[in-house]
Amino acid sequence: MWPEASCPSATRRTLTPAVMPSPQTVLLVEDNEDNRIVYSTILGHFGYRVMEALNGEEGIAKARAEKPDLILMDISIPIIDGWEATQVLKHDPVTRSIPIIALTAHALASDRERAMEVGCDGYLAKPCEPRAVVAEVQRFLGRPSGTGPDANQPAPATTDVVAGGATR
Ligand code: MN
Repeated sequence: MWPEASCPSATRRTLTPAVMPSPQTVLLVEDNEDNRIVYSTILGHFGYRVMEALNGEEGIAKARAEKPDLILMDISIPIIDGWEATQVLKHDPVTRSIPIIALTAHALASDRERAMEVGCDGYLAKPCEPRAVVAEVQRFLGRPSGTGPDANQPAPATTDVVAGGATR
């Protein structure tokens, strides 16, 4: 039924390292399921591999085991909150160089200051547009393989409407 051209995954896996870099990995530490789905989906769309952790303890364990390229750290998470988890990771030689972007529920100046104090490399106040999350990730990691969409650019549909001079 399927055409011969569909690439067997085993072959693809063998060729991948030589042909192109493996996708950059983002560890999303977030206890809210809706946010996890939204952020995972858009990051995957933009070419990143996404791992998820539901609390601070799991986040620390996965960061140490998987060494992701970047961590998105919700601050209000169970067991170990995002402030403490960030401090732990920034004091661990194995994980200290991994950029951590804090996601906080309050747009308070004190939160931004605290994010920097505990060693966060970036800071986003919730509610946070999915595209803003991608743009912040791209600021640190660039675009996967250099050819993916740029979250900072307007969506193609918008461009088309403007370029076509469509009636409003
Ligand atoms: Mn939360």
